[in-house]
Amino acid sequence: MSSLAKNYNRRKISFKKGKGSFLYSNNGKRYLDFIQGIAVNSLGHSNKNLINAINKQAKKIWHVSNAFIIPEGEKLAKRLTQKTFADYVIFQNSGTEATEAAIKVARRYFYSIGQPNKNRIVCIKNSFHGRTLAAIFASGSKKMTKGFGPKVDGFDHFIFGDHKSLKKAITKKTAAIMVEPIMGEGGIKVIPDWCLKELRKICNKKKILLILDEVQCGIGRSGKFFAFEYAKVKPDIVPIAKGIGGGFPLGAVLMTKKVASGMTPGTHGSTFGGNPLAMSVGNAVMDQIFKKGFLKNIQKISQYFHSELKNIQKEHSNIIKEVRGVGLLIGLQLHKDQSKFIQKLMDNNLLTIRAAENVIRILPPLNVKKKEIDLAIKIIRKVCKKYK
Ligand SMILES: *Cc1c(COP(=O)(O)O)cnc(C)c1O
Repeated sequence: MSSLAKNYNRRKISFKKGKGSFLYSNNGKRYLDFIQGIAVNSLGHSNKNLINAINKQAKKIWHVSNAFIIPEGEKLAKRLTQKTFADYVIFQNSGTEATEAAIKVARRYFYSIGQPNKNRIVCIKNSFHGRTLAAIFASGSKKMTKGFGPKVDGFDHFIFGDHKSLKKAITKKTAAIMVEPIMGEGGIKVIPDWCLKELRKICNKKKILLILDEVQCGIGRSGKFFAFEYAKVKPDIVPIAKGIGGGFPLGAVLMTKKVASGMTPGTHGSTFGGNPLAMSVGNAVMDQIFKKGFLKNIQKISQYFHSELKNIQKEHSNIIKEVRGVGLLIGLQLHKDQSKFIQKLMDNNLLTIRAAENVIRILPPLNVKKKEIDLAIKIIRKVCKKYK
């Protein structure tokens, strides 16, 4: 009997080790892991460079308070700002902390310029920004908020793709619009480039901030460092997490100089955020992702994966409705509930995970090999052929 609370419906399996794209279970099986801790192990399991980085750091210093300068964090922040739109970074430990910090930065900015009434955040209904109280009410999902009242105020919602409802949600009190460029938990729903551009224009016109939640779609997952780069827009605030730690808990909020002006000493903090262990792994992940050709290769190999999946979709259009996603953030939308299909894939040694709208999420490590994609394709096709 497990002493863990039952807030997860866990699959009856555990693993003793992982290597690259593969996981080895305690009952002696090898699985192709196309979950990777839900887009977290960006460089696969047991990556040599990450192991070296964390071992080296572990022998020197694990933790020191943010009351002091942390050189490893200075270095990672510098690199994140040199490679992106951002001028400043605040480190956190998880995605939901990063999105909460993003909300705080937006509100604090308007407070600091004498407009404290501009404090509401406009979000997509049933989006996902994490599980803290503010984040669940930001998502506006009935399922996630049920039983967790009183409601955290300050969020207004619009329907994905419904531009009229977006216009209605924006008021004089709006501080920011916060969306995921690619909705991960929401079913791998991509906001088209022209829509992101339009959101930027609306924010400029209304003098409000654009927060792009790249916790799942960021850090190379889309084939660019940030998914929004395809649309060539410049956000004001970007929360990140998942992939940046390569499996070690690490989150951050990136921001422009303008909005960072509100974050004066004492306005925000975190005991663990930016600790040397996390920072050393983050730096090692950055080393890999910005190696010459790494992101280009994600674009190339994912194009191959998408086209193979589209072939399967055509062969089995009675089962698979649509292939979704960008880069290695991939969704297979089925016509019906996807849980049985996910189980069948697992029976055939391929691990995938659900998302909303009957979607099966496929999240290989970013350094996945072509032959591993071929293996996944073979398994998916086999399951389709036998599927009733
Ligand atoms: C996973 C996720 C979060 C929350 O991250 P946690 O580390 O689980 O707190 C927030 N936003 C998006 C888009 C996510 O995918």
